[in-house]
Amino acid sequence: MSWNDIIAQHRVKKIINTSIELNRLPHALLFYGSEGVGKDAAAIHLAKVLNCKSGGTDSCDDCTDCKQINTLQHPNLNLVFAMPVGKGEESSDSPIEKISADDMANIYSQIEQKAKNFYHKIAIDKANTIKISSIRDVRRKTAMSVSGKGKRVIIIMNAEDMGIEASNALLKTLEEPPQNTILILTSSNKDALLPTIVSRCQLIRFDELTENQIKEALIIRENVDEEKSNIIARLANGNYRRALEMINTDFFEKRSQLVNFLVLVLTSDTLKISQEVERIVKSSSKPEIEQFFLMLNVWFRDVKTMQEGADNIINTDLLSRLTKFLNRYPNGDFHRIITAIEKSISLIQKNVYIPLVFFRFIVTIRNILLVKSKDF
Ligand SMILES: [Zn+2]
Repeated sequence: MSWNDIIAQHRVKKIINTSIELNRLPHALLFYGSEGVGKDAAAIHLAKVLNCKSGGTDSCDDCTDCKQINTLQHPNLNLVFAMPVGKGEESSDSPIEKISADDMANIYSQIEQKAKNFYHKIAIDKANTIKISSIRDVRRKTAMSVSGKGKRVIIIMNAEDMGIEASNALLKTLEEPPQNTILILTSSNKDALLPTIVSRCQLIRFDELTENQIKEALIIRENVDEEKSNIIARLANGNYRRALEMINTDFFEKRSQLVNFLVLVLTSDTLKISQEVERIVKSSSKPEIEQFFLMLNVWFRDVKTMQEGADNIINTDLLSRLTKFLNRYPNGDFHRIITAIEKSISLIQKNVYIPLVFFRFIVTIRNILLVKSKDF
């Protein structure tokens, strides 16, 4: 893996490379920007460059240090992230001391997946906050000597997961920067960080990824065919991690279920609709529900595109179903439906009770399509 493997972000790479060349890399960096644009991936890659035996601005990917970073096992690399709290755990315990064997297995498996793909998001059940003990651990490690000629790199992923105590502990480390160590905080919610932390870091803003950049990455890096890449890139909405998750789901089946759902919502009685909503909510995770609404969004954008007489639709393989749908509701206000879908997605992200989001949306879409169609 080289800098070329970090998708786009040319401005960011230039800033970092210039700092390395001039030997002016600050001791604390904050990589911020939307989710899934490559902040963690760039942070890990930077750790590799700083420890690679070649000593240049990019890694050789072949020396023992590079190989150890690739498996996330290098002694100079410390990853800090939210972890579950063990039974009876106190803040004086080490962060992993009281964690159950199952949770530990889950953590290892997440790290393994991150090593396979730096764009993977470490997501551990019941892990909501970065523990103060994890930050104390960082401080303890910075007192030990650095292995080889490299630099110690501490990456605090989703730094906004730090509570106030952990933040204050980190602040101490930032105030007395340890030797030969670089701290990289990553965050998709910079405003949730303590201003005193933000002001002690050099801020590096990551750009949004375009639909085209995601599409190309899927084709070249993941061998996804062009048609599927088109759809996934649209659904991913700038988030490459989400795109990766979609490759591995039964994406086409899910999309076809979605069309069936629409038919049901527009033709059945309340009881049947509630049963279906209950089934979907029970069998899906929150990201899956979000993906469901994103797919709905693309579906209605396609219907609207066809209604306007244009032909640049995304679900090209579902042309006949799209046509049938539009023929049924030729005067539908699809713009209002799309707005309602976007509202639903934002409610899900705000943790509003999911069945409520569904019913709100269903009432809206029935009002728009069914009540209107009676007028004709
Ligand atoms: Zn190397």
